Amino acid sequence: MASTTTTETAASNFVRDIVVDDLKTGKYQGRVHTRFPPEPNGYLHIGHAKSICLNFGLAAEFGGECNLRFDDTNPEKEETEYVESIMENIRWLGFDWENRLYYASDYFEQLYKWAVQLIKAGKAYVCDLSAEEVRQYRGTLTEPGKESPYRNRSVEANLDLFERMRAGEFHDGARTLRSKIDMASPNLNMRDPVMYRILHAEHHRTGDKWCIYPMYDFTHGQSDSIERITHSICTLEFEDHRPLYDWYVEQLGIYHPQQIEFDRLNLTYTVLSKRKLLTLVQEGHVRGWDDPRMPTLAGIRRRGYTPESIRNFCSSIGVSKTNGILDLGLLEHFVREDLNRRAPRVMAVLRPLRVVIDNYPEGQIEMLEAVNNPEDESMGKRQVPFSRVLYIEQEDFRENPPKQYFRLAPGREVRLRYGYFITCTGVVKDEKTGEVVELHCTYDPSTRGGNAPDGRKVKSTIHWVSASQAIDAEVRLYDYLFVRPNPNEEGVVFTTFLNPRSLEIVYHAKVEPSVAGAATFSHYQFERLGYFCVDPDSTAARPVFNRTTALRDTWAKIEKRAKEAE
Ligand code: ATP
Ligand code: MG
Repeated sequence: MASTTTTETAASNFVRDIVVDDLKTGKYQGRVHTRFPPEPNGYLHIGHAKSICLNFGLAAEFGGECNLRFDDTNPEKEETEYVESIMENIRWLGFDWENRLYYASDYFEQLYKWAVQLIKAGKAYVCDLSAEEVRQYRGTLTEPGKESPYRNRSVEANLDLFERMRAGEFHDGARTLRSKIDMASPNLNMRDPVMYRILHAEHHRTGDKWCIYPMYDFTHGQSDSIERITHSICTLEFEDHRPLYDWYVEQLGIYHPQQIEFDRLNLTYTVLSKRKLLTLVQEGHVRGWDDPRMPTLAGIRRRGYTPESIRNFCSSIGVSKTNGILDLGLLEHFVREDLNRRAPRVMAVLRPLRVVIDNYPEGQIEMLEAVNNPEDESMGKRQVPFSRVLYIEQEDFRENPPKQYFRLAPGREVRLRYGYFITCTGVVKDEKTGEVVELHCTYDPSTRGGNAPDGRKVKSTIHWVSASQAIDAEVRLYDYLFVRPNPNEEGVVFTTFLNPRSLEIVYHAKVEPSVAGAATFSHYQFERLGYFCVDPDSTAARPVFNRTTALRDTWAKIEKRAKEAE
């Protein structure tokens, strides 16, 4: 299509195609105005990021605007804490609603007037059926519903009762206001849906001003209309609500935005429902909404994911009309790709094994030059201290090495990264347990920087830190929160599938001194181990690191295998 020529940089998708088309036909006089409408009843998660990137992204691409609107019609579950975290997370992702912050609760008075308008037009009535009775009267997908005995109240009676509902005369659940549409409609949402319910509950913004609250369907479209939204983009479960969305704005004769539905993001080994995430927090399965194992934006951030990697992920997955479930490895792939570019390399040892270089002068410390990021020369170099006593990774030594094991072993020579060749000459064991507690080695002074002048080769390079300068650190290693690719199986409590080993804490890792004083949330690649991020629990004396992801790129492997199979 020729119409996309000006904007070919952005990945095409069907929602974007609709916008491009509407711009071409001048449907909204060249305006693009979207909104992101979270309900403040939990923290945002990676699924919301998809919606945020789509809504803010389209507005940015076409010189339009995107509003942030809190859909706060449910006073019982909503809290100011959530409002604040949502704003912080959107900003962190890199988007800005500028002066366009709205609350559905700001429209309560207008919505009330519109309800009165529908009553006067004979399109709404006060119904005295209980919630249970309303359900029974609604019918099923195969049977039509039954009309409420209160459906034909006079306009006057309805106006009077609705006013008294607002005045607080009736207890919770005693009455509702319903729209008069069609109890035989094949779409259950059109069978006289409830517009208002009575709820004597304190609202986080309107306090006790209201004791009747509008339902989502009676709020959302009209809020879009008030804000003159052009494209009201939401997830597929609202497709069946669109006729009702349209019905309200049409009956009220107000500006009509277009609702467009796209597929929800689902990821393997992950739950993305605020209700389930709340359960994880409340039942103490995680340390809070921002636990690095949580798929919340707060958790993902603390884990060390970057906003760029999430935006890249969201733009790569696109949008469609069918719900599916994506491999969590794909998200990790984008994180690695981004951190590979930006994270400085340092050396850290998670499970230290002491190594004494017997022929290295006691008390001597020399500085060795190390590259900060081989992907980016501009990140420069740093000096790493080397001395007689070092730590290496326990798993980089085997007393009886298997065939393909090329790392350190008795009598064997390996390269210390940025350092020297060392040869293992002795093994010290714990007398009681037999565990290897220390190695003795010799180094070859002529191999400084990593090459032997006589050209002899070693088969492996291992990382290390100098014992006396190393910083003691806590390192938190994460695995998938669930053991099942799909923990949302019907009929099973999802917490059944929690991974008991989703968090492993290493209390005394050793990290090279260059990381001293690193700011919270700074990223590092610990050479050969993965990407790590400074946790807010860190203190000046003792940093805490979260492993963002291991280096191994499972996704790349999956991709490679798939390509080979082609
Ligand atoms: P949940 O089911 O997780 O509680 P929700 O849809 O009730 O989510 P809202 O706060 O109402 O959460 O969502 C705000 C916006 O984000 C809506 O437009 C919704 O469609 C979108 N959204 C929520 N979850 C996802 C998801 N998994 N993928 C894409 N968009 C999502
Ligand atoms: Mg919702």
